[in-house]
Amino acid sequence: SAMETHNDRVVIVGAGLAGFGVASGLRKLGHVGPITLLGEEAHAPYDRPPLSKQFQIDGDEAALRLSPEPLPEVQLLSGCPAVALDLEQRMVQLQDGRRLPWDRLVLATGTRPRMLPALATSPRVMSLRTLDDARALRQRLGAATRLLVVGGGPIGLELAAMAQQLGCHATVVEAGPRLMGRSAPALIAEHLLQHHRSQGVDIHLGRTVVSVEDNGLALLDDGKVLQADVVVVGIGVLANDGLAVAAGIDADDGIFVDGWCRTNVAGVFAVGDVTRQVHPLSGRLERMETWSNAQGQAAALAAALVEPATAKPYDETPWYWSDQGSLRLQCAGLTEGDTHALRGDPASGSFVLLQWKAGRLCGVSAINAARDFNLLRRLLAAGSTLTPEVLAAPDANLKQLVQQAQS
Ligand code: FAD
Ligand code: NDP
Repeated sequence: SAMETHNDRVVIVGAGLAGFGVASGLRKLGHVGPITLLGEEAHAPYDRPPLSKQFQIDGDEAALRLSPEPLPEVQLLSGCPAVALDLEQRMVQLQDGRRLPWDRLVLATGTRPRMLPALATSPRVMSLRTLDDARALRQRLGAATRLLVVGGGPIGLELAAMAQQLGCHATVVEAGPRLMGRSAPALIAEHLLQHHRSQGVDIHLGRTVVSVEDNGLALLDDGKVLQADVVVVGIGVLANDGLAVAAGIDADDGIFVDGWCRTNVAGVFAVGDVTRQVHPLSGRLERMETWSNAQGQAAALAAALVEPATAKPYDETPWYWSDQGSLRLQCAGLTEGDTHALRGDPASGSFVLLQWKAGRLCGVSAINAARDFNLLRRLLAAGSTLTPEVLAAPDANLKQLVQQAQS
């Protein structure tokens, strides 16, 4: 019965945005049973997006906190990694030897950066995922004049822009033929390339770094040699799904979940970056490594645990933002379609790229056009079939079109 569910013991493994969101959502919605939030890191729950942005400038740790006060009646165990799951006994084994019983288990263990094996042991090379990483990077950038980032994804480009602001020259080495190959349309990537080059960032496409010597000499695969004080590798992430895999929960570089964040094992759920779910537009099982996905899945799971009978599946159209210096990129939906149109002029520095597939809006990507993005994202979520002529018209009343689509 509902009453019994409310008294369940919930253990959440991983105290990042998703794990924290489940704990706070459960308390907000009236869950009365005990909640334990386990975090491997020694810090109270914090937000990652500023780590590659403003934090590199101001080092403001208080601004990262997910909540100024401890969550009411939530047992937070920081610096306390889980090392095994016992699904038979419904216990989580902690590194310190304790075993915690649960009625509902939530896995929110996130991801970890991929490293290039050839660079891993160099003292100048690091990755950026945690607050500890960000502190170390900030300290190093303070004493550096040349940053080299491997990977032209959001991590690489956000850091390059920050470094330039700090008076440190940035070089980006990207293996693919263009920037942001995984997460943004080609036309947007071309705009980013021009922008960052105009700001003085050196960008090498179709290249990788094969070695970094202790004195900072970095060798590219075309034989070019660069000098770097700090090297950050930002070439994507791997899911922290080892606990789940060892326990026999279905996963493949990501724990498989449905719209209710259920795994294949009853009573065991997963949320955030560690999950793989059906993308509502591509139909494929994908990892959605975004802040909005972690937040949205966590809220949906909390609601499903408290009110299982009425809970709706999580099906938000995926979107993210990336602040790269003075440029704000926002993307929703797919990065490719069969038809596209522009709203606004890229030369003005503010525009939106709209994409359609089989007559339906399938992607919206904006550069410094937040208002249009937020309206067009809602049309996308509504499955709009409005045409390029209508949506690209400079005098289109987007607000009204959204209201019509939603009524
Ligand atoms: P995580 O934040 O990775 O949290 C998982 C936590 O679980 C970690 O603290 C980890 O230590 C802990 N954990 C792992 N294993 C165990 C274990 N066995 N026991 C206990 N604890 C464990 N997204 C955007 O949309 N926009 C942005 O601008 C943006 N900027 C970003 C900038 C940076 C530098 C980074 C790193 C990410 C950024 N993201 C951004 C992505 C966003 O931060 C992630 O999508 C989000 O953090 C996912 O939350 P999560 O809780 O699922 O995972
Ligand atoms: P991404 O996977 O987005 O980007 C990595 C980039 O590195 C890709 O363009 C990839 O190219 C390239 N690459 C891969 N291998 C090599 C190589 N050997 N040499 C050079 N380049 C290579 O990951 P990031 O590391 O940028 O980000 C890590 C995580 O942080 C992600 O989960 C991301 O979502 C999150 N994040 C999100 C932000 C945001 O949304 N604003 C900001 C910062 C981080 P190719 O695709 O061709 O292999």
